[in-house]
Amino acid sequence: MAANGKKVLIAGGGVAALEAALALRDLAADRVDVELLAPEPHFWYRPLSVAAPFELGETTRFELDGLARELGASFTLAGLTGIDEWRHVAYTSTNKQIPYDVLLVACGALPFPAVPGALTFRGPADIERIQGLLEEIVSGDVHSVAFVIPWGAVWSLPAYELALLTSAYLQDRGIQGVELTLVTPEAEPLQLFGAPASQATRALLDENGVAIQAGAYAGTFADGELELIPDGSLHADRVVALPRLQGAPIDGLPQTVYGFIPVDAHCRVDGVSDVLAAGDITSFTVKQGGIAAQQADVAATAIAAEAGADVVPTSFRPVLRGLLLTGREPRYLRRELGFEPEQDAVASYEALWWPPAKIVGRYLAPFLASHAGTGVTPSLSELPSGAIPLEVEFDRDVLDELRPEQLVSGYDADDHDPGVSELMSSDPVVVAPEDTVGEAAERLLARGATAAAVAESGRLIGILTISDLVRASAMRVHPAEGRARQWMTAEPVTVTPKTSVAAAAFLARQYGIRHLPVVEGDRPVGMLHLDEALQQAGVPLGLGLS
Ligand SMILES: Cc1cc2nc3c(=O)[nH]c(=O)nc-3n(C[C@H](O)[C@H](O)[C@H](O)COP(=O)(O)OP(=O)(O)OC[C@H]3O[C@@H](n4cnc5c(N)ncnc54)[C@H](O)[C@@H]3O)c2cc1C
Repeated sequence: MAANGKKVLIAGGGVAALEAALALRDLAADRVDVELLAPEPHFWYRPLSVAAPFELGETTRFELDGLARELGASFTLAGLTGIDEWRHVAYTSTNKQIPYDVLLVACGALPFPAVPGALTFRGPADIERIQGLLEEIVSGDVHSVAFVIPWGAVWSLPAYELALLTSAYLQDRGIQGVELTLVTPEAEPLQLFGAPASQATRALLDENGVAIQAGAYAGTFADGELELIPDGSLHADRVVALPRLQGAPIDGLPQTVYGFIPVDAHCRVDGVSDVLAAGDITSFTVKQGGIAAQQADVAATAIAAEAGADVVPTSFRPVLRGLLLTGREPRYLRRELGFEPEQDAVASYEALWWPPAKIVGRYLAPFLASHAGTGVTPSLSELPSGAIPLEVEFDRDVLDELRPEQLVSGYDADDHDPGVSELMSSDPVVVAPEDTVGEAAERLLARGATAAAVAESGRLIGILTISDLVRASAMRVHPAEGRARQWMTAEPVTVTPKTSVAAAAFLARQYGIRHLPVVEGDRPVGMLHLDEALQQAGVPLGLGLS
């Protein structure tokens, strides 16, 4: 630990936090003084929890206190609840105030049920429930199971793994006639990894008798029917769904409607000085350990350079790598996520990185390999060979397609629906991100409005509602100090003037929101207050969505 180094507070004790602490030890050990802050005393290695119900792997945990000591860092058991940007102080769940020079937010994301009525698989906590389901299948009580990937920010691989592992489990026991279906909003299976992986995965599912329902948004599961949006349903005795992820609220930081934090290419939080973020808590759509580790490395170079180390800050250039557990052969999947891929798509049967851990981190994977036995970094000799490494051009549209906004994009106003332009307030209150919360409150009050669009250079970047201002006030934020940027909902869900009211209502329901900024391009042109609009509209909430 550096005696008079920069005080770096890392909020989190997961993949991104540990990778960042390891990177800082390598890049600037004599210039930084690192403290880890997490509400849970262990680091959990979760990926193999998917295999645990099938007795093919186990989850492993490590004491954070010991890991921190080994890294020359200190560890405090508490959660980050907010920050005071001006005083450079972090507030904790134990009512402590921790001063920092630089804060790295690496708090991960929390899993919430996405499909009412389904068994939600979050990881280690749900291993026994999957085992219970397997027992029901084996005893003949359950004949059909759907595995669901919900829309939004998720890591989809575990759903494929659960389906394939279930199939292998049943084949090994000679059990036939059980219908397994994978339901996904992706147009193709594992679409994110590119066409070759999609084809390989489709073939794999087919070989193993797992049907696929692609391009499907799952609604509610009740009475043996899984609702599919916008139309139809699927019969299943049981549904296993991945959770929808959300970031925990952290006062004083811009967050999206699901609590994710927007960052720039160096993982700096937009507009908040000396605060960076990495991992699942950021608004990057893919929530994956390897991506979290890459962001942590980027953040560490920025912090090390600022601390005076001879390091050039790198930019986030995501590479997606995966190891799919199939119950038969693992397949390595790699895809360059960027606009200028270095290589074309390739397929081979060798691991492209080492150790071949499920979570790939430049520092973390070898560190964990040196700390634990087999469960953590399965070697190729323990898993049957087989690999599909991929590098193909990243198409951001793939990520956008998984957002429910995409689902309603074709639903414009018609004779039966007046459309958003008829019901929005067409002269919305617009504030700048640097406006204080006091100024924003004054403007809202003067106009009798309950929400303002936050725009930077004419571009919508957030929405600030009365509830946000109440929250800031409850945190004793001085009206002349707190800024709109810190309290707004960043990257808000939007509609266009042409969107039908029914579609806007669907989005509001899906996201649990009451105001929708209306945009043309990225310019705010209106604000839709859902409660008022729906009262006025008197339209059926159609699309089969209501
Ligand atoms: C079942 C399952 C299988 C997966 N399989 C894979 C896989 O095969 N490959 C892969 O790359 N990824 C996989 N993932 C995803 C991977 O685990 C996550 O993307 C990764 O852990 C994200 O890293 P993180 O550091 O952002 O968050 P996490 O690793 O979740 O760590 C978050 C940390 O922050 C702490 N924390 C929470 N709230 C606060 C707070 N308020 N203040 C301070 N600390 C806080 C938590 O206690 C925890 O220590 C899987 C996930 C699951 C659930």
